[in-house]
Formats: sequence, structure tokens, C-alpha cells
Amino acid sequence: MPIASNDRPFASDDDPRRTGAAGAGSAAAARATGSVDGAARVAKRVQAVPGSGIRRFFDIIASMDHVISLGVGEPDFVTPWPISEAAIRAIEQGHTHYTSNLGLLELREAIARDLERRYGIEWDPRDEMLITTGVSEGLDLAARAIINPGDEVIVADPSYAAHAPAIALAGGVPVSIKTEAAQGFVLDPSDVEAAITPGTRALLIAYPSNPTGAVLDRPTLEALADIARRHDLLIISDEIYDRLVYGGAVHTPIAALPGMKNRTITLGGFSKSHAMTGWRVGWAAAPPDLFGGMLKIHQYAMMSAPTVAQYAALEAIRAGEEYVVSMREEYDRRRQLMWRGFNDLGLACSEPRGAFYAFPSVAQTGYDDETFAEQLLISEQVAVVPGSAFGAAGAGHVRACYATSYEDIEEALRRIRRFLHHAPMAK
Ligand code: PLP
Repeated sequence: MPIASNDRPFASDDDPRRTGAAGAGSAAAARATGSVDGAARVAKRVQAVPGSGIRRFFDIIASMDHVISLGVGEPDFVTPWPISEAAIRAIEQGHTHYTSNLGLLELREAIARDLERRYGIEWDPRDEMLITTGVSEGLDLAARAIINPGDEVIVADPSYAAHAPAIALAGGVPVSIKTEAAQGFVLDPSDVEAAITPGTRALLIAYPSNPTGAVLDRPTLEALADIARRHDLLIISDEIYDRLVYGGAVHTPIAALPGMKNRTITLGGFSKSHAMTGWRVGWAAAPPDLFGGMLKIHQYAMMSAPTVAQYAALEAIRAGEEYVVSMREEYDRRRQLMWRGFNDLGLACSEPRGAFYAFPSVAQTGYDDETFAEQLLISEQVAVVPGSAFGAAGAGHVRACYATSYEDIEEALRRIRRFLHHAPMAK
């Protein structure tokens, strides 16, 4: 089946990473971090959260043409047309009002049925499932619903750039657990257990992983579940990449393990699986008490997720499977090219088994990850993201996204080869 691709060299101008808080280096961007004259007027909790580590880097990209971007983590595919058409129909039919705070019941029912079929979990669409404005909102709701001031939440390092800030902005304390390249960046349950204190409230996990592509195998998941049960921890599980696993890897939601549904908030969405980043629609599933807390915040802060996007998501669940499969097949082809390509270039890269990122080491080039990314961009117009933007344990690596065309990845690898000839270690 043909799948359309944007073929754009880089993110659109309204990509938040280019304009807003992490954007183009404007005074507004600096103000958004509370780092200039207005700092005293920004709440301390917000000031304490560092601005995006990617900002300086995206400033440079914004000023360049003809960049091959392996930088931004979003599908290059355009949303499959039947999904967009369903949204157009919804507008034509006048579905332009708020929905229920919980989201369209039809959509919640369809998602719940889909999850039951795929993972065997039964969530009640009436009082355990909420439609959110992307997983981004789900993360915020989950953190704010369960964290009391000073509560510790354990999170892997490296991890998605918004995870630790979501915890901190909710008044919690993110406790980072270093994961190792040698172990494929998988969270080690014994490290998690060692980090637990009387102040530990929850564990935030997010597999398949952005930025490393790691997937948790069943024994590791079971060990984490065992720790959560023994220490009475809650789990926030960001499963936005659940449909993107490759090479025989299997995704299991931690809520599907015995005794876990009642202590887990599961977050999912359509942005990655259905190429719907701009529609801003996701879902959260949680046991009724936690669900109630999240709903309270959602109804005051958001009211309801975008209505037209909810109709699009409904069509994505009903008729989107063939697109998910064909996009995943294409990502897999690109994954093989990129991961093997990095290793051939001497940039050690463990096999990414999920999401759409490779996370090779650049330590052997003699550059640190920021300098590597900056110099590669300036001299060869290839954008990758420094690994340290995802936590201290990401240092020495870069994140390269393979949600871009096969041909662009081939060309990017050619340019990186040329670049490496001039790297400090090559001299
Ligand atoms: N969680 C992870 C791990 C992500 O990588 C992203 C986007 O890159 C999000 C959440 C945000 O997803 P959404 O577009 O549904 O808000």
C-alpha cells in the first residue's frame, strides 16, 4: 500500500522545538525558561526546571538550508488519508463542540476493545479511560494526580526529555537511574530497588524507549512489577511507541502483569503509530481512584481533547491497522540500514528494538556528543541530537531518528563517513 511521506528536510516552522520554549533562541524562548530579567516573577518550581538541552542546537538548524534531519522524533509520513477524511466529515457534520470531559465514549470503547484484543487487559471505558491532548497531557495529569510535594519518582536515564520535568513541575523529585549501553540501555531492576527510599512514590517507565530504542523483555518487566508490589509503588507507563517493535520483540504493558493494573497509569496515543503528531490526541488508563484525580485536573485545565482529532482517532482505531503495519515495515527497513550503518562506521550502536531511534556511541571519535552533533551539522548538514539532552547517562551518544526516508538515511551515512575522516581521533 502506498504511504505518503512529507519529504521535508526538517520539522515544520511551528515545531515547538524550533519556536517555543526550546525554540529559536529568541528573547521569548529565553523568557520561557525564566532565565532572563523576569526570572523573579516565574515560580521557583518552574525556574528550577532546566530549559531544553537541545535549544542551542536547534538554533543553528533553524538558520540552515538543506539539512538531512535525523533530529526530530516524528513520523515523516503524512496521516493516512481515511483518518484525515474522517476529521473532515466530522467538521462537515458540525462536530465542532466540546466532547464529554472524558472524550467520546465511542472512542474510549474502541480503544478499550483494541487493547483487550492485543494485550488481554480490560479497562472500563466509562471510569478507567480518558482521552487526552496527546500523551504529553497524560504525563502531566499522571504526575500531578499522584505526586505530593517532595515525593520521589524513579525514572531511567537517558529518557524522553519531558519525563523528569513532568515530575518536577508536579512538585516531585525525579530520581534518575543510569542505564548502560552495554546492557542495551535497559533499566536494571536491582538498580531500581537500590534507589527506593521511604519517599519513593512511583516509577516512571517508557518502553519502547525514546531515545535508545530499548524494549523491556518479560523477565525484566516481571522483576520491576515485583518491586512495585513489594514496595507499594505506583507506575506511570508511557507506552506511546507500543506499536513500533521489530525483529520479534514483543511489547507487554506492565498493567497486564498480575496485580499491576491497580497500581499503574498507562499512557498511549496516536502520534507515532498513526503519524498523527499534529492532531494532539492520546489516552490514559488508570484504576478508578487515580483516574478520578486525573479527570479532575483534565476537566479544569483542558476541558476535553480536540473534538475533530477524536473523530480522526476513532477512524485510526477502526481502519488504521493496515497503515500501522505498512509504516512499521518501512521503519524496520530503515532501522536495519541505520543501525548496521553506524556500526560499519565504527560508531558502536546496540540494536534498537523499538520506537524509531538509534543511539550510537560517538565517544571513539574524540568529540563529546554536543560537539559531534554541532560539527556534523555545520560541516555536513546532518542533524542528530546530542545524547546528553536526554540525561547525563546519554553523554557520549547521539540520537538519530529513522522516521525519515531510506534515501536520506543512506545519504546521511555517506556524509557521516566523510565527517569522521576529519574527527579528532582520525587525525
Ligand atoms: N512520550 C514519549 C516517550 C515521546 O517520545 C513523545 C514524543 O516524542 C511523547 C510522549 C509525546 O507524545 P504526544 O505527541 O502524544 O504528546
